[in-house]
Amino acid sequence: MTETLVQDPIATYVGGREFKMLIGGEFVDAADGAEIEVFDPSTGAALTRVPSAGAADVERAVAAAQAAQPAWEALGVAGRSACFARFDELLTEHRERLAMLDAIDCGNPVKAMRIDVDICHAYVRGWPSLAAAMTGDVIPASPGNLHYTAHRPYGVVGRITAFNHPLMFAATRPLPSLITGNTLVMKPSPDTSLSTLALAELFHEAFPPGVVNIVSGGGDAGDALVTHPVVKRIAFTGSVPTGLLIQRRAAESGHVKQLSLELGGKNAMVVFPDVDLDEVVEGAIYGMNLDVCQGQSCGSNSRVLVHRRIYDQFVAKMADRLGEYRVGVAYEESTDVGPLVSRAHYDRVAGFVESGVAEGATLVRGGDRPGDAPEGGNFIVPALFADVRPEMKIGREEIFGPVVSVFPWDDYDAMIEQANGLDLGLTASVWTHDLDVAHKTADRLDAGYVWVNDSTRHYFGTPFGGSKNSGTGREESPDELLSYLEQKVVHTRLRDPQAALARMLG
Ligand code: NAD
Repeated sequence: MTETLVQDPIATYVGGREFKMLIGGEFVDAADGAEIEVFDPSTGAALTRVPSAGAADVERAVAAAQAAQPAWEALGVAGRSACFARFDELLTEHRERLAMLDAIDCGNPVKAMRIDVDICHAYVRGWPSLAAAMTGDVIPASPGNLHYTAHRPYGVVGRITAFNHPLMFAATRPLPSLITGNTLVMKPSPDTSLSTLALAELFHEAFPPGVVNIVSGGGDAGDALVTHPVVKRIAFTGSVPTGLLIQRRAAESGHVKQLSLELGGKNAMVVFPDVDLDEVVEGAIYGMNLDVCQGQSCGSNSRVLVHRRIYDQFVAKMADRLGEYRVGVAYEESTDVGPLVSRAHYDRVAGFVESGVAEGATLVRGGDRPGDAPEGGNFIVPALFADVRPEMKIGREEIFGPVVSVFPWDDYDAMIEQANGLDLGLTASVWTHDLDVAHKTADRLDAGYVWVNDSTRHYFGTPFGGSKNSGTGREESPDELLSYLEQKVVHTRLRDPQAALARMLG
């Protein structure tokens, strides 16, 4: 049964409800009673409080996950898949509530968050099929012997997520670790915990106690998870500085850990002069994820490199088109672009806009507050900067907000050098009608995921992840399944069977 639209989403989905952590099949507060206050980014109003886990809570969660792991592994892929099927049904039943919680708590427009919930189904259904089809290898390494590979789960996996797609990350990113027989302790961002804590109820209904444990909290809880001796596999989505810190802290724990890091991006969209301008402008806006999460996306094409022959037309068309997007309260149906997640992040993004102006880029439109949005909300009208130079702060650093920089280019090699000139390499896109130019350019762009005549879309089964400081490891694909398994080779020396046969058969 799908939930119906309600008049007052905050009263319905937040008011009077409790948001608790899930540890060992029980809904609990932090052991020391610590809490985090939750604010509505659309209005600034205080909404509720959620538990703030400390090291003691992480300890309990890891112990619960460790205790549940052997029975979970013993279920096999088929047994575990049955839990996935129930989880899939529950996501459908709770679609509206989960989407609204992300709109209320994170500020992403509710229209887009319904799509985020819908996207989850491909992952919930896809991982069991991939896991069922997994095989090992028989390796002809030496004649007369048998060498084969076997896989075993790590045990307890720690998963730490970023703030920008809270429900989608919490519902889909743990799945490959679970289907491979690991149990889980997951920590959402302290800025956007509500949908993950609501999702805990669905995990509780679909999975055995202790298989999925959810702790809400900040960096201290994350650090306790990263340094815990039992947690040998950490999967992290977040910023480059936190990713680097996690690498260091994991090493300092004295335990060798397997880390996957999905980090930031400052992604280049490369536009050749032969394109259809309308299509490319739509692609640039879509690729910025403006009407999904206000550009707060790792994969956003925030650096648009446009050939000078069509540069002025591109900038003018993009400015016109951006003017059609309605900025407003995230949980209203008419809103295309919501507020930024927090006042601190708003101040950071507003600082980037100021620096762009101060360094001499042309602010073509936006960057200010919309006149008709609530005073306390963290709203910024999508900003379009032209005449950006690569050395400017807005041209170099990840802004993670609704700010697009457009650069003109003339020389192909210099443009490639500029596109590859940062320490980040998550995504890139190439826009041209010429097949040779498209593929040669895709080959030269240093990024983990390159689109040709598209942007931002990626599908279950295709490996997603970054090069350089954008991360390590690939998600959403068979590579990721293997990354939750330790490989073992069984090497059997096969002797001449005659002696054994003589003993056996007399
Ligand atoms: P963040 O690094 O501030 O926080 C991410 C998570 O790390 C949060 O849950 C936070 O509580 C936790 N954390 C903080 N300190 C920690 C510590 N010392 N030990 C362990 N955990 C700790 O990032 P954010 O602001 O939530 O998210 C934005 C960043 O995430 C951007 O850089 C964005 O590009 C990146 N991101 C990347 C991807 C991807 O797939 N590559 C996807 C989404 C977001």
